[in-house]
Amino acid sequence: MEIAYLIALTIILATLLVQFTAIYKANIAKEQAEQSNRAKSAFLANMSHEIRTPMNAIIGMAELALRKGLADEAREEILTIKRSGENLLSIINDILDLSKIESGKLEIVPRDYCFSSLANDVISIIKTKLAGSEIRFDVCIDGNIPNALFGDETRVRQILLNVLSNAVKYTKNGFISLSVNGEIQEEDIIHLTMSVADSGIGIKREDISKAFENFVQVDLDTNKGTEGTGLGLSITKNLVNAMGGNISVESEYGKGSIFTIALPQKIRSREPAAFIRNSGEFMAFTVKFNAPDAAILVVDDIKTNLSVAEGLILPYKIQVDTALSGEAGIEAIKKKRYDLVFMDHMMPMMDGVEATRRIREFARDLPVIALTANALYGVKEMFLSNGFNDFLSKPIDIAKLEAVLEKWIPKEKQLEAKPEFGIGHDVASLQTLAVFHKDGTTKIEEIKKCLETENYRLYTIHVHALKSALTNIGAKNLAESASALEIAGNNVNLEFIKMHTPKFLTDLKHILDGISISINENQEKKSASMDALVKLKEALETLNPSAINEAVDELQDTQADDILQSVLVGNYEEAIVMINDLLNLPSKG
Ligand code: ADP
Repeated sequence: MEIAYLIALTIILATLLVQFTAIYKANIAKEQAEQSNRAKSAFLANMSHEIRTPMNAIIGMAELALRKGLADEAREEILTIKRSGENLLSIINDILDLSKIESGKLEIVPRDYCFSSLANDVISIIKTKLAGSEIRFDVCIDGNIPNALFGDETRVRQILLNVLSNAVKYTKNGFISLSVNGEIQEEDIIHLTMSVADSGIGIKREDISKAFENFVQVDLDTNKGTEGTGLGLSITKNLVNAMGGNISVESEYGKGSIFTIALPQKIRSREPAAFIRNSGEFMAFTVKFNAPDAAILVVDDIKTNLSVAEGLILPYKIQVDTALSGEAGIEAIKKKRYDLVFMDHMMPMMDGVEATRRIREFARDLPVIALTANALYGVKEMFLSNGFNDFLSKPIDIAKLEAVLEKWIPKEKQLEAKPEFGIGHDVASLQTLAVFHKDGTTKIEEIKKCLETENYRLYTIHVHALKSALTNIGAKNLAESASALEIAGNNVNLEFIKMHTPKFLTDLKHILDGISISINENQEKKSASMDALVKLKEALETLNPSAINEAVDELQDTQADDILQSVLVGNYEEAIVMINDLLNLPSKG
């Protein structure tokens, strides 16, 4: 009896011991896994920052260089630098996305968005990728899809771009098509079905399921030489699923593939996309408002970044001051009332977090927006808990910048940008900037010549003209320097002139470079498309089929997709109304 009891007890104890050991080991393993995961996240965060910062400079500088009159060969080389930089950045973004997915930290951030502008963006990016190739790109978008939707626009864009970019990558000839249909089942949900078809290389039956796995590139023999990480589809699938949707593929090897994405999105209002035209890109450079009474300070230790930010903000006619260090930023804020501060995160000596902490000691309500090359998950929370109001990632995205400005510049200082061609686009400011860019560039040469020939009277006239122009575009600091030089010119203070003119000219050059980034290069293309629009309108009004075809051909490369779409589905009256709107002509009837 006792022996049996002892044996039973021993067995129980042994079992418990085994279990405890297992639990203990599991805990250690879990602890180790968590620790290594934390290390991985930290490593990724660091790597992301370390790589994105120089990438920002590489892409930005290449962009600046491309705006200059380069010899063809140099242009090609710099274009390659820029493209490779953008590729690398997108690979880094993919890896970061993957790390978020793997750590369960993938955020879906729904917001109100405009479906037509999302579609326009995606279409124009794919058209650019296809420029110069023989591949046809067909787009068919259901005109009944409401324009005002609610969802994660950035992620929807990413999904579409991933699948469409693959189609571009894996199709050598034939066509690519995008079709989007919507079905409203519940009151405020639209079920979008987005199909991307191509006549490309196709995927073997046995490879189809693998295509959605991490780091998997199928059919490596055929795809030799094709760039890619094998992450795109896996990320896409995760994103689609996270938004309650589904992605599937049908493919015939050697013939082509069809990727179909089903995605539910909330509806904000029922007005169909076709009637609200976001012809934003038609004007290429658009600003929602002007704020000449608002003042912004940009703090960044890299001069090029300051120039780029200044160039991007200038069209809003906001006064922009800059500071090259956290310390200088604090000093500037003590001296002047700003409506908004953009603060770089990583700076030598005092970084953005420390600078903002000190700013909070005396300016509690001043909106401070972090500028960061580190867009990893959790970074936003880090900034918000450190006294920042918001954050923008670098390279600065124009749409995000506008959203930040709109949110933080006091509403009473935001004036409506006066449209010239209709629909809220500040063409005037674009023209002002373009003119300034042209004049400024010649003025630099003229001023240099005046110094060489010691013609200080002419020098003063040029500097005076620049002072007014700089004031007009809101470049206040430089306008003040010009004013000081003008006074020196009037007093023939040669010492002052010789000492301060070189720096003035370099600063001016920086601003001009920043501006040229903001100005779309396709001015001529735009006026040409205006002519084509007038032609199309006449052809539609006279129902002249060959003239319609001709005009449609001319408009093919522009962003007038919604108009073309209406023409293609035979809705001429609607197309005429849209053209009238765009050209700012009164509609009949
Ligand atoms: P990658 O970066 O290699 O393009 P993806 O995850 O986007 O990675 O795609 C995985 C694989 O699926 C690709 O390597 C390719 O073999 C195949 N694939 C994706 N899209 C297509 C397509 N439209 N046509 C043919 N093959 C495709």
